Amino acid sequence: MPVRLPLATAAEARAWLAATFRARRRAFVVVIGLFCLASVAGLAGPQILGRLVDSVVAGSPRIDVLAVSFVVILLLQAVLKQIARARAGMLGERVLAETRERFVERALSLPLGTVEAVGTGDLLSRATTDSDRIQYAVRNALPEISVASITAVITVAAMIVTSPLLSLGLLAVPVVLFLPTRRYLRGVPPVMERMLDHWADVQTRLHETADGARTAEALSLVGRRIALGDRTLGAAIREERRLRSMAVRWVPWLQLSQVLPIAVMLLTGGWAYAAGLAGLGTVATMVMYQQALAAPVEELLWWMEDLQVSGTALRRVLGVRGHGQPRHGGTPQGREIVLRDVRYGYSADREVLHGIDLRVPPGERLAIVGPSGAGKSTLGRLLAGVATPDSGSVTIGGAEVSALPEDLLRREVLLLTQEQHVFAGTLRENLTLPAGEWTGEQLVAALDAAGLADWLATLPEGLDTRLGSGARAVPAAVAQQLALARVVLADPHTVVLDEATSLLDDSSARQLERSLRRVLDGRTVIAIAHRLHTAAAADRVAVVEDGRITELGPHAGLLAAGGSYARLVEAQAVAATRASTAE
Ligand code: ADP
Repeated sequence: MPVRLPLATAAEARAWLAATFRARRRAFVVVIGLFCLASVAGLAGPQILGRLVDSVVAGSPRIDVLAVSFVVILLLQAVLKQIARARAGMLGERVLAETRERFVERALSLPLGTVEAVGTGDLLSRATTDSDRIQYAVRNALPEISVASITAVITVAAMIVTSPLLSLGLLAVPVVLFLPTRRYLRGVPPVMERMLDHWADVQTRLHETADGARTAEALSLVGRRIALGDRTLGAAIREERRLRSMAVRWVPWLQLSQVLPIAVMLLTGGWAYAAGLAGLGTVATMVMYQQALAAPVEELLWWMEDLQVSGTALRRVLGVRGHGQPRHGGTPQGREIVLRDVRYGYSADREVLHGIDLRVPPGERLAIVGPSGAGKSTLGRLLAGVATPDSGSVTIGGAEVSALPEDLLRREVLLLTQEQHVFAGTLRENLTLPAGEWTGEQLVAALDAAGLADWLATLPEGLDTRLGSGARAVPAAVAQQLALARVVLADPHTVVLDEATSLLDDSSARQLERSLRRVLDGRTVIAIAHRLHTAAAADRVAVVEDGRITELGPHAGLLAAGGSYARLVEAQAVAATRASTAE
């Protein structure tokens, strides 16, 4: 199963709700006040009808006046409810917009390592499906639930005022409902959490399958992917069913709790009328109140499940908010990079780096070489603060790299990999991705330094030309050079290069290497080199084998020593000769 982001606790969700309420107390009070007024207006109906019954019994019916008042009251109630709903809707939308903005903020500040570990599915499902669930609840459930609960409370109060004796019938409600409701409310949250988790898995699987569709097809994995999708979907559907069956078991009790009080009231009412304790009008009013109570209670039931789902969805969304650790790694005093006994694994059961010690003085060009899968890229990620060591420390100028605040970290060290994404947006937006303010001249100068002056001249709208999907296509080499221009702008003193040129054809690679030399001049450069000729130009070479640094020293020294590095160079030379003979 994929790694998941945590869930905010119910207490955290409640605290968030309370804080949201406090921040908009006035607006909330106005909405609740309007709903109360609408409910009070609604209570007049049964009272008027009760009077009508009494006036008919007394032999002097006043149908016209009472009927007109009845219609006026109904209209008033409808208008008040409409205004209240509109205001509740607006309030909800504002709260929702803020929640989404904060979610995006938190999601963007999650450590890259965490985002990679959880995959896109969990985060996406929280940003889309879960947010939609909250949106649905805020738009529909909250106004309806507010109306229903306020109406229910006020109706019960009116019943007690109208006839305390007949109101005793209401006691049947808790007697019937207490145990089944407690069982239902306790049982639902865990099922709901599992259900939403499974739906997030469904999204992850779908995403992976769509992303890797060609690979799956090429490797004849389609059947397996479909089976995996079915299994994940099956798990989500099982939890959905469990939830439905819990609701189905609860509903009959709820319905019984609505009709039983009427029976009790009619029986007590008959007795009280015979005993002269209540008029027929009062009995009629009470029965109508009880029937009027059925509608809001049914509404509450109807929305209860949505509310529970959105409550869990809220905890998932807030779970992302609460996840980012505040970073406070102190301020680096100097530029020396020091690794002390660094251990790291992507999962708890498999360590990839087994105790790395390394010291990189400012301005050094260090090449990291070694066989594939030895841990070079992982080491690069730790050096750039993308991942945090499980034990040991990676420091720049004495400050823990992975604990540096994001903006400070990017001025210290940047990781350049072969995957450089061009975002849909203008060239200017693509360049100013690392937060910061730059003038047009600075942006042009950075493009120039990255060797993109000629390319810029070909763009119809210069810095405001739209790039990326659906707009101007950007070749891989230019995407890499754009990343270099960002390095110039962010101006970090250390750059970690992870095979920045390996995806390019030879001429693009040479062009990029020229730009690289210019941009990297004067910075500390740690280059993860798969082509060893890069290593020859470095001040020192570190050989990583099976998660350990096995050799460290200048190119010539290591060659002379005749160890792993010498063997790697020899192997690559033999491979190159074979390739050229084959051609
Ligand atoms: P290199 O750069 O030397 O080729 P890597 O640092 O990419 O090696 O990988 C080192 C080990 O860590 C490999 O065994 C690889 O399978 C594993 N590994 C790399 N990335 C991940 C990841 N995202 N999740 C799990 N294991 C990984």
